[in-house]
Amino acid sequence: MSTKNIVSLSGGKDSTALWLYALGKGVEVVPVFADTGNEHQKTYEYLEYLEKQLGPIHRIKADFTKQIEHKREVVQTKWRNEGVEEWIIEQALNVLHPTGNPFLDLCIWKGRFPSTKARFCTVELKVRPFFDQVYLLLLEQGHKVISWQGVRAEESIARSKLSEREDTPEGYEIYRPLLKWTANEVFAMHSRYGIEPNPLYKLGMGRVGCMPCINCGKLELFEIARRFPEEVERIAAWEETVKQASKRNGASFFADENGASIYEKVEWSKTTFGGKQYDLLKAIEMEDVPMCSSQYGLCE
Ligand code: SF4
Repeated sequence: MSTKNIVSLSGGKDSTALWLYALGKGVEVVPVFADTGNEHQKTYEYLEYLEKQLGPIHRIKADFTKQIEHKREVVQTKWRNEGVEEWIIEQALNVLHPTGNPFLDLCIWKGRFPSTKARFCTVELKVRPFFDQVYLLLLEQGHKVISWQGVRAEESIARSKLSEREDTPEGYEIYRPLLKWTANEVFAMHSRYGIEPNPLYKLGMGRVGCMPCINCGKLELFEIARRFPEEVERIAAWEETVKQASKRNGASFFADENGASIYEKVEWSKTTFGGKQYDLLKAIEMEDVPMCSSQYGLCE
């Protein structure tokens, strides 16, 4: 039985440092990237850069074709029996087709976006594909599987409670060697190997992952809106599609009780504390986008 070391690669600084750490230790690892379909183009380009510098990356992605097919049946039977209006049924059937984009297809299937209270995206787009498409196959072939994860204790209270090694009920082991590392140590690891961090860090992003993430804060949304307005437009188009797949004919990316659209949230991100008045400084910053505004002091 051989050991397979799998590095969960996101295109962010921590998982890149993790890959470099493993290489430095002489451990043979397989870096795997779970594509959510909601990544910034710069992250895809960065992965290509990493492949050229360090070696191949195995890419996986979730597929919700079967779930969407099943939802069509539910709409045609259960929704009709429940008395849902015919125009809502028709518009749902119009959009209930897989697009091939995992994030969008997940939301079409669910008829809503994930939220901080219902964060099904991580499980459906990352945890499950990793298990079904990587760990399970290796376990069935009789390998010992170690999942290398680049989480750090200082990122959150929940992460500070994690242990460096953990055995999972599913039969694979989790290894978190960067648990005690600081962000500076992570960037120092990049420098040691002459590897550039993902350029998004120099463009005001505190973290690299979905663009945007449903947990994205006010300041980060402001940065995204002024630097990458095309991403806001993409999400607005997604809101329209997911709305049509929803029984209540409504869906907002930042699912809150007011049902505010991404455009409304962007307007809110330009306001001062309290959300009522426009922040004059932000109004100027919206027009005057600096080349570099890293939250980690990476600007040169
Ligand atoms: S990065 Fe955010 S939006 Fe993307 S899967 Fe994770 S929690 Fe969900």
